[in-house]
This record gives sequence, C-alpha cells and structure tokens, in this order.
Amino acid sequence: MRCAHCGAELAPGDHFCKNCGKSIENNLEKVDRATQISSRMLKRTVIGVIAFAVVMIGMFSILVFMGTLSDVLERF
Ligand SMILES: [Zn+2]
Repeated sequence: MRCAHCGAELAPGDHFCKNCGKSIENNLEKVDRATQISSRMLKRTVIGVIAFAVVMIGMFSILVFMGTLSDVLERF
C-alpha cells in the first residue's frame, strides 16, 4: 500500500503517512466511495446495455414479424 499524497510505502496498520503526515484512513474512505460509485455506474451501464439489447431484439422481431406478415399478405 502506498500513500495517496506522496507515494511513500506504508506499513499495514499505519493511520498516518510517515513521510508527509497525511491521514491514511480518509484516503481509504475516499477510495471505497469511489469504488462503490464506479461499481454502481458499472451496474447502471450493464442494465442500460441489457435494456438497449432487449429493445433492439424487440424492434428486430417486430420488423421480422411485419416482413413475414407482408410476405403472407402479398401471396394471397
Ligand atoms: Zn504521504
């Protein structure tokens, strides 16, 4: 683990950086929040992609259905 402020190597269990004296726990909280936000955004992106795929498949199936319907109507 490294300090987010100066990049100094930190010992596990340290609460403050020995090099610059900045609090490490605050950095970890920020990183955790950033990770949570990015995972939420990833979930939203996945849901959005799935929703888009479902809509596209639905529109495609409607187009195929309309195409087959017009083919059937043309034959009669
Ligand atoms: Zn530091």
